[in-house]
Amino acid sequence: MTSMLAAQGISRPTATAGRNIASPATPGPGRTSDQHRLSVLLEAIELRQSADDLSAVLQKLVELVTRGLGVSSVTLYLAAKEDGLLHALATSAQHHRDHILEFPVEFGDGLTGSVAASGRARIINHAENSSDAVQIPGTPVEPESVMAVPLMCAQGTTGVLLASSEGYEEFLATDLDWLKVFGCLASGIVHESALQAVTDAERQNLKDQLLHAEKMRVLGEMASGVFHDINNILGAVIGRAEMMQYKTSDEEFKKALAQMEKIALQGAATVKRLQEFAKSHQDQEPAPTTLSQVIEDSLEVTRHRWETQAQQKGIIYKIVRNSDGPRVVRGVHPQLVDAVANLILNALDAMPQGGTLKIETSGEASTCVLTVCDTGVGMSAEQIGKVFSPFFTTKGPRGTGLGLTVVRDIIKRLEGKIDLASQPGEGTTFRIEFPSVPADGAPAQVQAEPEQPCGLRLLLVDDDHTILDVVAEALQDAGHKVDVFDNGGDAVDAITRNTYDVVVTDLGMPDVTGWDVARAAKLHEPRLPVLVISGWGAQYGDDCLGDTGVDAMLAKPFHLQQLRENVERLAKASRTAPQAR
Ligand code: ADP
Ligand code: MG
Repeated sequence: MTSMLAAQGISRPTATAGRNIASPATPGPGRTSDQHRLSVLLEAIELRQSADDLSAVLQKLVELVTRGLGVSSVTLYLAAKEDGLLHALATSAQHHRDHILEFPVEFGDGLTGSVAASGRARIINHAENSSDAVQIPGTPVEPESVMAVPLMCAQGTTGVLLASSEGYEEFLATDLDWLKVFGCLASGIVHESALQAVTDAERQNLKDQLLHAEKMRVLGEMASGVFHDINNILGAVIGRAEMMQYKTSDEEFKKALAQMEKIALQGAATVKRLQEFAKSHQDQEPAPTTLSQVIEDSLEVTRHRWETQAQQKGIIYKIVRNSDGPRVVRGVHPQLVDAVANLILNALDAMPQGGTLKIETSGEASTCVLTVCDTGVGMSAEQIGKVFSPFFTTKGPRGTGLGLTVVRDIIKRLEGKIDLASQPGEGTTFRIEFPSVPADGAPAQVQAEPEQPCGLRLLLVDDDHTILDVVAEALQDAGHKVDVFDNGGDAVDAITRNTYDVVVTDLGMPDVTGWDVARAAKLHEPRLPVLVISGWGAQYGDDCLGDTGVDAMLAKPFHLQQLRENVERLAKASRTAPQAR
């Protein structure tokens, strides 16, 4: 629409210039001098160093032009990506400012629009009589001359600088030349400020993300303490329930106890999954992993979303699994579960009204393929190009934009490939391709049948009495003699005085910890096996036990049978081991 700032009752500046009252183009007495114009250009150059934000820079630019030419008003328009229109972002007009700022101009319309569309500077003198100029709604029709130059960048026109002179004066070609020079300078300044604005926004985004990551870290630390306590509680419940089942002959009671044990075990499995999730797994070596197990585990960790929450919201997700046989890949199982779970969560997000989630495996001899397919909102080609970029999200503050970045990183490290196919409204399919390994590459899980040594002399130490009682009773029931301690100091003392077949110790105890007990045991008798039972156990792999003195770890909660087997296995191994000294 408008290109002209129609006469707006703007008072004429004292240094009116740059225009002719009459037609012959002679410099009038009010014309700003060349020297003045040059100094204004120099001022504009200095704006490049200013730390102002974009809108302040734009305002300074229009004021400089107003002063440089001595005109009534200057307005700066920038093209907006969102609607493709030219928006007035700064003006030096004193009157009708709101009308000017609120009125967007289409490319091609009036002087502003035609200069933007053609990229060519232009003057319209006596604009009130010209059909090329368009009146801004809400501004009065008065004698006025206008001229405009485009603001350009490498991609084309980014905006327009429009100068307006009230009254009967005319603009000269020299005025337009000066404005062109100013326009060139302003183009660069606007471009740099706009880039700066984007970087500022990105920096803020990054800051938010770091804050979020820090919050997650603290939450993770708090959570591991909570896992420890819950494991202890569940351990005591499971142990008691198990033992009472052996001791009672009341069938009804037995059934209730078995039910209780089952529920506590389910709780324990949930805690274990959370513990696994909290670990980074960065330092784990890839090992043969079956894709169907990865799929089952990732569906399990996301169950709350596609089952519990969906039911609460009255949404139905149909989950389809199609596995074409035991496909084995080299990977770190929990990392692969993370990756597939991320794809599942994105698929569910894309189907807010419900839909079908299909997870399939396929492939040939040398490759394994896993696809996650949804019937959700899908993506445009532009979106597809951005999904793996860090921080790209369409979910607002709810999204982090990091899910797919992490997924791609995991897959890349395993020498796999990930790509996707999607259409708006047609759903999305993510496809991961791995090099396959032979199914028999998986290490055989042969469980040696433990021979049952009986009547062992055991030392048991745990600062938690609920655990201590249950474990002691279970080991005694198995026919062993158990010395029980509730602190590490007394346990270490006993180790130096007595002879034990196995030391069973908790890890996290005040003052003297399980690590201290293990070291003391090995110092006293290098062949004395040490079994650690701990709520933290899931966070230490057997491979990181090194020379800690610990021979094996059992994570709480555990079955009492597991405990007995471990104790007896260690006792047997130490008896058959070659003498160290
Ligand atoms: P976040 O989920 O936090 O947004 P992601 O990296 O996981 O971050 O995903 C980035 C973006 O990719 C999402 O915001 C969404 O726009 C798009 N996306 C990912 N998966 C799907 C999908 N299955 N269907 C539609 N859009 C998706
Ligand atoms: Mg995501």
